Amino acid sequence: MKTVLSGIQPSGSLTIGNYIGAMKNFVALQEDYNSYFMVVDLHAITVAQEPAALREASESVAALYLAAGLDPAKANIFLQSHVPQHAELGWIMTTLVAMGELERMTQFKDKSEGKDSVGAGLFVYPALMAADILLYNADLVPVGDDQKQHLELTRDLAGRFNHRFGEYFTVPEPFIPKVGARIMSLDDGTKKMSKSNPNAGSFIALLDPPDVIRKKLSRATTDSGREVMYDPQNKPEISNLMSIYSQFSGLSLDEITAKYEGQMYGGFKKELAEVVVAGLEPLQQRYHDIRESGEVHQVLRQGAENAQAAAEKTLIAVKERMGFLPAQ
Ligand code: ATP
Ligand code: MG
Repeated sequence: MKTVLSGIQPSGSLTIGNYIGAMKNFVALQEDYNSYFMVVDLHAITVAQEPAALREASESVAALYLAAGLDPAKANIFLQSHVPQHAELGWIMTTLVAMGELERMTQFKDKSEGKDSVGAGLFVYPALMAADILLYNADLVPVGDDQKQHLELTRDLAGRFNHRFGEYFTVPEPFIPKVGARIMSLDDGTKKMSKSNPNAGSFIALLDPPDVIRKKLSRATTDSGREVMYDPQNKPEISNLMSIYSQFSGLSLDEITAKYEGQMYGGFKKELAEVVVAGLEPLQQRYHDIRESGEVHQVLRQGAENAQAAAEKTLIAVKERMGFLPAQ
């Protein structure tokens, strides 16, 4: 059976971008793959996190995984920090990656832009991400479009290790959805929606109450003109809203264009809000039930135990190939 792995950072409240671009596919893939889905808390601390907020977000992301339909009987669900092998292989990958490769990463450029002080962890982040994937010899990694470059680097690092130390790692493939791989920010159609954006109006969180969703969508910026038509080049903002509509309603972009022909943005945005509110309601309900039950802790414990067993095997093999003297 092939292996699938992915993760989401507890760096804020998950957005519909995280759901459409990544989490939805986790749920589909768990049926046919040996599955590892993590809450990547070691990645989250590459930018400063308040301890209480990190703790809450970590539990919240895990509960959202369950609410979205991940099933602990089918998938290993765990926190990255509960499996110390990630940090250890991460260090090893840091020694294999070149500074020049890291300097080319657009996520680093975006996240460090305009900052006075940038932690070195943000720079070496892709080495840890490579370790996350290679530890389980994942075949497939479902991610949004923004992670494509990191995946490419992971493939290069797997190849580099195999070349230097003998074939060992599986070279992973990205799994990027055809539609919805890059949901854009509500306040700027040229930037991707991100949960760590300090302007909460720029994203819709999966846990936003209905009135907040309505308000955010009514305020979403829209391109000049008035026609509801899909044209990402010239009308990125309305096109983004149409993609969201399509994802939540199941209607195709053509069907949405036909439905709103001759109508203005205002009416479309109002109906979009209702589609999103209705789409998120069952997930929100399940989320609150799961949080109340406290079941997340048991799921995370079991997930970490399974993950550690698999990760330790990899690490022993890697260290042996590299020439580390085994502890006797
Ligand atoms: P942060 O701002 O802290 O980086 P994020 O919203 O980018 O948060 P991540 O935890 O970095 O979320 O990414 C989790 C997954 O969600 C990744 O697979 C990523 O590619 C995907 N993803 C993130 N943003 C979007 C988006 N706007 N559209 C589609 N997929 C996305
Ligand atoms: Mg991100």
